[in-house]
Amino acid sequence: MNAMRNGQILVADDDPSVLDSLSTVLRDSGFDVRIADGRESLLRELRLGTPDLLLLDVIMPGADGIQVLQELKRDSRWRDIPVLMISSLSPDGVTEKTFGLGAADFIRKPFRPRELIARVQAQLRLHRELTASRAALTAAEDELRRAREDAESRRKMVDILHEVTGDLATDEIYPILARRVARALNLSRCSVILAKPGDAKGVVATAFDDPALRDFEIHLDRYPEIRQALDTGEPVLIEDLQVSDLHNTIRQEWQAQGTKVPIRSVIVLPLKLGEEQAGVFFLRRMESEPPLTREDVEFADAVVKAAVGAIGRARLIETTRAENTRLEVLARTDPLTQVLNRRALTMQLVAEMDRARRYGTDISVLMVDLDHFKRVNDTMGHLVGDDVLRELARLLQQSVRSVDFVARYGGEEFVAVLPETALAGAVVFAERLRERIAATKFVPAHGGVYLTASIGVASYPAPEIHTVDDMIARADEALYRAKEQGRNRVCQ
Ligand code: GH3
Ligand code: MG
Ligand code: MG
Repeated sequence: MNAMRNGQILVADDDPSVLDSLSTVLRDSGFDVRIADGRESLLRELRLGTPDLLLLDVIMPGADGIQVLQELKRDSRWRDIPVLMISSLSPDGVTEKTFGLGAADFIRKPFRPRELIARVQAQLRLHRELTASRAALTAAEDELRRAREDAESRRKMVDILHEVTGDLATDEIYPILARRVARALNLSRCSVILAKPGDAKGVVATAFDDPALRDFEIHLDRYPEIRQALDTGEPVLIEDLQVSDLHNTIRQEWQAQGTKVPIRSVIVLPLKLGEEQAGVFFLRRMESEPPLTREDVEFADAVVKAAVGAIGRARLIETTRAENTRLEVLARTDPLTQVLNRRALTMQLVAEMDRARRYGTDISVLMVDLDHFKRVNDTMGHLVGDDVLRELARLLQQSVRSVDFVARYGGEEFVAVLPETALAGAVVFAERLRERIAATKFVPAHGGVYLTASIGVASYPAPEIHTVDDMIARADEALYRAKEQGRNRVCQ
């Protein structure tokens, strides 16, 4: 017979013959039996080990069984032991009373062995089922609590990511992450330190606790936990800084210098951007605060890992934007002279004419063409000719107002667009420009050359000008007339 399987039973009765016969019957059925002959020995036996079932005499010396039952049911240590009451008294009244007090069942003396065993087995089975379902309930409750915490973490994470995944610059993401992680984990200290493995120094990218620390340099030999995280690429948890092995050496220094470090726990999470170890998240709790745990590491690590994706996207957006801006500038610029090219001129002139049309303002266009430029190329070389074009472009650019713009229309023809300028004003400006060009010594490094220019002017509004093409054509016609009339002049 297997006592473990059948269970252990404690029998409490003041009558030795009852104890004897009960134990014999129970042992014969394979139970492990202990006995107690009164209240004191019962309590002593209970303290030695909790039985699976208690057979309790209703009347015992020192206290009646009902009192003992009450006592046991009030004590959390014994409360769950099923109690079978035994009595020679008529069960009426006693039954009700003991059931009300938590007795599991009631057996009358003299008992019939088979009935006793059947009742004992029934109680033990019930008890096992109860224990099992309690355990299941606890497990389910644990599961539920974990699920709730998980959901809570996920919700916090989603909040964080919502805030982070907008197209923010990397610079802006670090402070948000540090703040959110600090709040989620109830941290008084949370910062991002930028450093690579092997670096002697790190730079504070952001510090939740003290924004003034930004860009502050820290010596990593004073932070072995940061070193370790950078070297291993794995999170580091220091539950108690005052006893951590990693800090043995630095603690001696603190002691020698009389430095008081009021930090209790530290989590360091490596921050990888792409393949690059970019730095760490540095989370700390003070001595007065509860220590950081493995679960905190997991949560913070999940947040940081998710955030890394966001930072990667932000970086991509940053570089793409910079690249786009660069390409856009390239696409708008004439490579030789750095003024607007013809395509950009057309686009901008469309917008300006649109404005002039809507607001009823004037706009003028000058077409500037060097006279006999071919001769420069022929006598001084094409490269010097290029220099002349660059210098002319600079001269034009310096001559116009900030609202005006200059473009290279082709070869040695430039266009200046003057918004909010009527024909008369544009002609005056063109005349001054012509004089200035004529007075300029171009390419002085190559001996210098004086050149003149012819300028055609057109203005909007005018009866036959509706489009940008009309406007350019009118300026070109005026330029042609200036050339015809002898060059170095302004025509409209
Ligand atoms: P005109 O007074 O009639 O304008 O005479 P021009 O020689 O200035 O005019 P034409 O249109 O006959 O010749 C323009 C010259 O400009 C021809 C070409 O060699 C030169 N040219 C056009 N683009 C460039 C350039 O990018 N660099 C250099 N160096 N020369 C250029
Ligand atoms: Mg020319
Ligand atoms: Mg020309």
